[in-house]
Amino acid sequence: MLQYLIILLDKESVSFCSTPPKGERGGGLMPLETLRQGIRFGMMENLMIQYVYPDKELSKEYAEVIESIDHSKIKSLPQSLLKEGRMDADVWVTESIKDIKAEVPVVWRTDKQNLFNSEADIVCALENVPRLNVVLTDVETFTDEDFEKYKQLLSALAKHIEKLYVEGKAPQLNLLTDRMMLQKMNNCGAGDTTITLAPNGKFYVCPAFFYEDESDSIGDLENGLDIKNKQLYKLEYAPICRHCDAYQCKRCIWLNRKTTLEVNTPSHEQCVLAHLERNASRELLNNIRKHGTFLPEQEDIKEIDYLDPFDKRDTWQ
Ligand code: SF4
Repeated sequence: MLQYLIILLDKESVSFCSTPPKGERGGGLMPLETLRQGIRFGMMENLMIQYVYPDKELSKEYAEVIESIDHSKIKSLPQSLLKEGRMDADVWVTESIKDIKAEVPVVWRTDKQNLFNSEADIVCALENVPRLNVVLTDVETFTDEDFEKYKQLLSALAKHIEKLYVEGKAPQLNLLTDRMMLQKMNNCGAGDTTITLAPNGKFYVCPAFFYEDESDSIGDLENGLDIKNKQLYKLEYAPICRHCDAYQCKRCIWLNRKTTLEVNTPSHEQCVLAHLERNASRELLNNIRKHGTFLPEQEDIKEIDYLDPFDKRDTWQ
């Protein structure tokens, strides 16, 4: 069931997930009337609205329309402002986590090389933001050597997080703490629970589908939604993911289509990364529990001997 409507206020709205960087999209603000109609659609369908902002300032007229409905704001802020801990967004997006400080969750988009070099900055960020969401922008390029580096980084970060928990803090890092708290899949939901409205008044599965090809829409404000084979976006129809317990996995629909040409079939790289996170979360959960009761209602994460559920397809019922 649809629950969220992402409204891209501009063609150059900030990328907050695997979506390619702004690059050569060319600016283009959503016309005010389109914004009003989008809000109306969201109200009629009872959807929670998430506005995604461009870097430029919007006029007072836009601000008034934006504020006319409950929503959350996703913005990118320059490094200088991140340091000051400004609070005019519900989620901040940044390409650098050096010295960040914030009172709302921060999304850090990074490539693997930068990630591997940033252990100290991540540890520092965990003390200064309520939640850090790491989004890898080059998942499909991971090699076996990279997987090993990722595993080592997660293990090192888990030790830091364990120490913080023992000190009575509760840092959140999507890669390690989400799986400890989840009892079922919690993925991106593009095309199923979430759709995106672009500045051209058309709907898309997610921002990446709009940025990649504007003709790839799933309806428009005038004629409503038209999602072909919409069951394919649901977990029950995902042949591999429905057998998986890496509940924290992003299960990126756009990345699926990019790498396997199927929206419901993930790449090997996406699965291995999610399982390295799952296994490191298991270790973290077990280690925190050695210090005392922790998440007593949460089941243990069981030990498994694979990193890609596809390798266990013989055991599926
Ligand atoms: S790890 Fe792979 S199979 Fe599991 S949810 Fe993620 S993409 Fe799907």
